[in-house]
Amino acid sequence: MSTTEPTLFERIAAREIPARIVFENERVIAFHDIAPQAPLHLLVTPKSGAYATVAELAAADPALLAEVVIIADGLASEFSNGEYRLVFNSGASAGQTVFHVHAHLLSGGLDEGSLG
Ligand code: 5GP
Repeated sequence: MSTTEPTLFERIAAREIPARIVFENERVIAFHDIAPQAPLHLLVTPKSGAYATVAELAAADPALLAEVVIIADGLASEFSNGEYRLVFNSGASAGQTVFHVHAHLLSGGLDEGSLG
């Protein structure tokens, strides 16, 4: 039996912590960020917390990373205008607080945003 604690996002996927879930399939889940930084701010993440960062996921399961990106693209069209930023914070000094790889999907009103 594993002694590893489930990550926050694994607990959301397991419905142990409530979230506004907008998409789910076998391997990926997407839900609204609790502290939105844009009119649309979703987190798109593998259900498994096996990978902490986007580079770890890219190395171990590139198809799953591609699936995250394609799902995010579809959600941007479904919930916004189809144009977006996809942000993966990698490491604490870059702002990562949840060490379970996730894409921030930010859309709407970003022309004067502070992210870049
Ligand atoms: P990071 O800083 O790791 O790139 O992103 C973590 C994100 O998770 C933050 O934008 C934060 O607002 C969001 N977050 C933290 N706790 C919760 C929660 O309990 N529910 C939801 N929906 N989002 C959360």
